[in-house]
Amino acid sequence: SQELTGRRLSAVSHAVGVTMPVYCARAYGGIIEDVDGNRLIDLGSGIAVTTIGNSSPRVVDAVREQVGEFTHTCFMVTPYEGYIEVAEHLNRLTPGSYEKRSALFNSGAEAVENAIKIARAYTKRPAVVAFDHAYHGRTNLTMALTAKSMPYKSGFGPFAHEIYRAPLSYPYRDGLIDKEWATNGELAAERALTVIDKQIGAANLAAVIIEPILGEGGFIVPAPGFLPTLRSWCADNGVVFIADEVQSGFGRTGHMFACEDEGIDPDLIVTAKGIADGLPLSAVTGRAEIMDSPHVSGLGGTYGGNPVACAAALGTIQTLEMDGMLDRAKDIERLMKDRLGRLQADDDRIGDVRGRGAMIAMELVKSGTAEPDPELTKALCAGAHAQGVLVLSCGTFGNILRFLPPLAISDELLHEGLDVLAEVLAGL
Ligand code: PMP
Repeated sequence: SQELTGRRLSAVSHAVGVTMPVYCARAYGGIIEDVDGNRLIDLGSGIAVTTIGNSSPRVVDAVREQVGEFTHTCFMVTPYEGYIEVAEHLNRLTPGSYEKRSALFNSGAEAVENAIKIARAYTKRPAVVAFDHAYHGRTNLTMALTAKSMPYKSGFGPFAHEIYRAPLSYPYRDGLIDKEWATNGELAAERALTVIDKQIGAANLAAVIIEPILGEGGFIVPAPGFLPTLRSWCADNGVVFIADEVQSGFGRTGHMFACEDEGIDPDLIVTAKGIADGLPLSAVTGRAEIMDSPHVSGLGGTYGGNPVACAAALGTIQTLEMDGMLDRAKDIERLMKDRLGRLQADDDRIGDVRGRGAMIAMELVKSGTAEPDPELTKALCAGAHAQGVLVLSCGTFGNILRFLPPLAISDELLHEGLDVLAEVLAGL
């Protein structure tokens, strides 16, 4: 790994950072094995991508078969069945029983951009609302939607215009000001809707985009009622409601999509990451009349819905549906919340434990306060890494430790990883 680090530093742009200075040789069942033979416990899934587990057997078989048939034709030139099959599954699996269509792309950011294009074409309005702490990508339009400056936006402007930001429901931090804010999402939604109404005006607004559980922003789960109130305001005002489920989708939270827990059906839903077990694929799925509203050939791209990535998605969907994976995500939630809850009871530096399914986080604060503690978070990550446990941090204040284990991980490995974490925390 040291040798590869030397080569990386002379060949790869230094602007591409890495979390751990070890190099992967293979990964399976919640373990990443590095080129020196070290085995790490994977509580990150490549940032919520290998949700069903790395190189999952149905995915490997489907990819091998497809790559031997053809690797690319460009769907816009000579289409193929795999793309259509993925679209059919997406239309079936996403919330809402109305007629839907899907379009496939490569990355989460690219799909978010397309969702905005579609919403603007449909409504013929320019403005888009995103929320505090949001993360939607690193392309120019998605940087504008993303909230956090460092490292995502700083120095990369000017950004796309007609993007506005509204206040989020952040139960832990809202609750420090007034307890009711932590539990009454309708109140937090009214605060956001006042900003939207008064500063933008519904008549100018194409879309509201939100992550049902925020990812990079800190695994924030809005208070109950927040999302349904926003959703119904959008319906009443002809505004397209877009759920960015790039991180929270595809079984991660114990449902196929996090929206299902809120009982809402978005007009458009953006997916990527967990959709294809690591192959680059993303999608926009939604109401047929919205998805069909741009002119013919208005959407597309050379690689969007690549046949090998589609084969991987079909293997992933089969695995999620046939192997009880959604229940497994709920088991992981119980195990992790129990362990982290017990840690929190003994350590007032853990301000909050939250999340759903295999998307769980703890918010670290200075002892006896609610002041974010990014230094402790960094030290805890580094300590866990040194002991062979891969954990990731996130959050606007850099003080959230997030856990995204693959659903293929065993309870034993999870416990081992959490034992290490508890030990490292006790020593800090
Ligand atoms: N939206 C959300 C919610 C995400 O978590 C991410 C990636 N972290 C993106 C969009 C962007 O996805 P990609 O990195 O594939 O462009």
